[in-house]
Amino acid sequence: MRNYSLSDMPGQPHFRISVKREMPPEANTPQGYVSNLLHDAVEPGHTLQIAPPCGEFFLDVTEKHERPLVLLAAGVGITPIMSILLSALEAFPKREILVVHAVLNEDVQPFRKTVNELARQHANLRAYYRYSEGGSPSDNVSVGFVTAEYLEGLLSSRDADYYFCGPQPFMVSIYHELLKWGIPASQMHFEFFGPRQELERAA
Ligand SMILES: Cc1cc2nc3c(=O)[nH]c(=O)nc-3n(C[C@H](O)[C@H](O)[C@H](O)COP(=O)(O)OP(=O)(O)OC[C@H]3O[C@@H](n4cnc5c(N)ncnc54)[C@H](O)[C@@H]3O)c2cc1C
Repeated sequence: MRNYSLSDMPGQPHFRISVKREMPPEANTPQGYVSNLLHDAVEPGHTLQIAPPCGEFFLDVTEKHERPLVLLAAGVGITPIMSILLSALEAFPKREILVVHAVLNEDVQPFRKTVNELARQHANLRAYYRYSEGGSPSDNVSVGFVTAEYLEGLLSSRDADYYFCGPQPFMVSIYHELLKWGIPASQMHFEFFGPRQELERAA
């Protein structure tokens, strides 16, 4: 059994997941079982047995805060962030929304075209991409990791609602930087693609 985040907005006549094909981390190790099965063997029309959607990582659109909404994703962690972004754009057309997506490089960046298009359509949305393996810097593209200094340069105020999702080193770093900034737990929302204790334990 594997977990996959819903990546489309709520209220659609379908549920959507977006799956990264997990390649072997090194030679002579197996590739990811379920992700490759979904890519290679599952076709439209097949029936899969799945559990109902569950979890706490979503945007509660009944909470009408004025604070900026800061959505931080690394790699495939963009999937629940996409759902939150789509909900936010519909529910809060005037609220400042910042998206930062960290990936290795442009070639492996999911949803880039979609996010660019959304930023073109919505004046309240700014999107920035951070490539750790290099790329051509432009207005919204830069090379490096998502650090506190980098974020500070994009934020209009630290007092924001933060939603973040990605692999462990990214999550640990963002979580601890936000704690240092004194961001209250009520303004930090995250989905860890693993047990939560690992995040809190890590220094
Ligand atoms: C809450 C949550 C939400 C998630 N949402 C998403 C999502 O939206 N999209 C998404 O793509 N993923 C998501 N994931 C991750 C997903 O659940 C799976 O973990 C992921 O798809 C890998 O599963 P797999 O069966 O392909 O790999 P597995 O078979 O579980 O293997 C995992 C990794 O280990 C490697 N490996 C396997 N066997 C060995 C071995 N013997 N030695 C060394 N390495 C080995 C594989 O190559 C692979 O890289 C989410 C996880 C959680 C917990």
